[in-house]
Amino acid sequence: MIVGAVVVTVLAALQYRWSNQVSEATSVRLADSLQMSMINWHLDFFRDLSEIGLAMRMDPDSRYPDELEEYARHFAEWRSQAKYPGLVSNLYILKSSDQALRLNPTSRQFEPDVWPPEFRSLREALQYALRRSSPDRAGEGFPESFFSLGNPLAGWRFEPSIPALFHPIVSRAPAREQPEPGDWVAIELNRTVIETQVLPALAQAYFRGTEGLDFEVAVVSGNQPGDVIYSSDPGFGGQEIANADGIMNIFGHVQDTVLGSPIHVFHRPSENTGPAAFGGISWFPLLQEGAEDQDWKLVVRHRRGGPLGAFVVEMRRRDLAISFGALFLLVISMAMVIIAGNRAQRLAKLQVDFVTAVSHELRTPLTVISSAADNIAHGVVEGKQQLAQYGTVIRNQARQLSGLVEQILLFAATGQGRQRYDLRPLEIPELIEAALASTRELVQSAQFTVEREIAPDLPAVRGDLSALSQCLQNLITNAVKYGSEQRWLGVRARVLETSMGGREVQISVADRGIGISPAELPHIFEPFYRSPSVAAAQVHGTGLGLPLAMSMARAMKGRITVTSQPGRGSTFTLHLPAAEQATRKTDVEAKAVGVSQ
Ligand code: ADP
Repeated sequence: MIVGAVVVTVLAALQYRWSNQVSEATSVRLADSLQMSMINWHLDFFRDLSEIGLAMRMDPDSRYPDELEEYARHFAEWRSQAKYPGLVSNLYILKSSDQALRLNPTSRQFEPDVWPPEFRSLREALQYALRRSSPDRAGEGFPESFFSLGNPLAGWRFEPSIPALFHPIVSRAPAREQPEPGDWVAIELNRTVIETQVLPALAQAYFRGTEGLDFEVAVVSGNQPGDVIYSSDPGFGGQEIANADGIMNIFGHVQDTVLGSPIHVFHRPSENTGPAAFGGISWFPLLQEGAEDQDWKLVVRHRRGGPLGAFVVEMRRRDLAISFGALFLLVISMAMVIIAGNRAQRLAKLQVDFVTAVSHELRTPLTVISSAADNIAHGVVEGKQQLAQYGTVIRNQARQLSGLVEQILLFAATGQGRQRYDLRPLEIPELIEAALASTRELVQSAQFTVEREIAPDLPAVRGDLSALSQCLQNLITNAVKYGSEQRWLGVRARVLETSMGGREVQISVADRGIGISPAELPHIFEPFYRSPSVAAAQVHGTGLGLPLAMSMARAMKGRITVTSQPGRGSTFTLHLPAAEQATRKTDVEAKAVGVSQ
């Protein structure tokens, strides 16, 4: 028992500790997997944009303005194979003056135009970027690989405010007509296609669970707070960035709120400077951010209330509840096994006591009978009168023996439900007389005074005469056995209203004998139970009288109650429902109710 309790406590403590470790590991795993999803999302988004930039790449020996035709051709090729052909809304060649050329996709010709108004505000920034990245500034600490005019693969600049991609027009081959310094190719992107096609498809690809999106996903612009470019859930991304599980500056830094620190990532230009940097590989050479405060942010939050910690805590609480539930069941089953074991042990002891008691009960009358028979056989008995006395002794002992055997057989029959009862209306005085008549000899030989108090006009009860009379006989026999020197026995019968509104007949058998201690009272109706004091005092008995009486009372829809005071006496009361409200079953038979144990 104690060992079991210790084991369960240790298991509970270990379970608690392990679940802590598991939930920490789960947080790390979830954060890792979220980060991977964000990185993949990022790669894919960049791939979609980079493809346009790559398609616009010029042959190294192409010459301006032949390049214009080449741009138109390359663009048409890109469009014919692109995943999102509508992603580009306009293609411009921006001159350093206010002039511009715009590609007419139908005629595939560039047509004269002017800088679109929304581009104009960027003009300063573009010029500045171009100046900063000119070759003669190399070595001054500016990252070169991106803005180098000599590197046609570098320098695509994403402007989130439009959005658009810009690239300075460079031509390394000698030109028939040099482009004016500060000319740009500008790819104006269709924000509606980004919002309604590109970003939703990316969210589905990287944040989908078994039942729709596991995460709420939004792309917001750092430019104006609350400028939501895309949101998987209405409202998400507006004000709620702070409690997100992950935030990534799409064109700047990756910010990981789970790990806590911003991480410098891939598409940052190579830190190498100088001519060698041309050969260096950087992760996203085709794109770089515009002003950092305009950066787009990818914001994700787990659907179950983010930040991720809350989800893990909830998972841990659920796991703990399940495992503590299992431990609780284990404790209950252990307790039940212990209780059942104790009961089985006690029952085994009771049965051994029973066998001892029965053997003892058999031995006494058998000894008397056999010595009386010996005396007769050896001619020790003389005269008719003495012979008659011996005959009476032998008959009484034999009756006691057969009574004992009857009781054991009866117990076996009721225990197995084989006992049949003949139910019929019974008058109470008739019943009491039958019981007293059967025990008269015993009562008289023990010199007991019997006091009767039978109320007039008692209603009949419904029952089996011999069973109920046997039940009362057992109570009367006990009153005589345990009635001590007072030698008094009271039989009382009355009728009472029950709390259920019916009437009940109560027949009590009282004595002024040894009484029963409160500790023993709960056990006296258990089969084979005998009070240790009476067993020690060698009072005859088997421990079957009361269980038998109770099972017979129950078969008649009645019960037996007891009140007792040690040293003052006991009162056993048989309660039987009055016949008018007894069940209207025909007088056929009712099965005995098994003795409760
Ligand atoms: P038995 O009398 O054969 O021992 P019972 O089932 O009739 O078996 O009674 C069980 C126990 O209940 C007795 O051993 C005795 O200790 C206690 N008991 C029963 N009736 C009385 C009584 N009237 N007064 C005191 N103790 C009693």
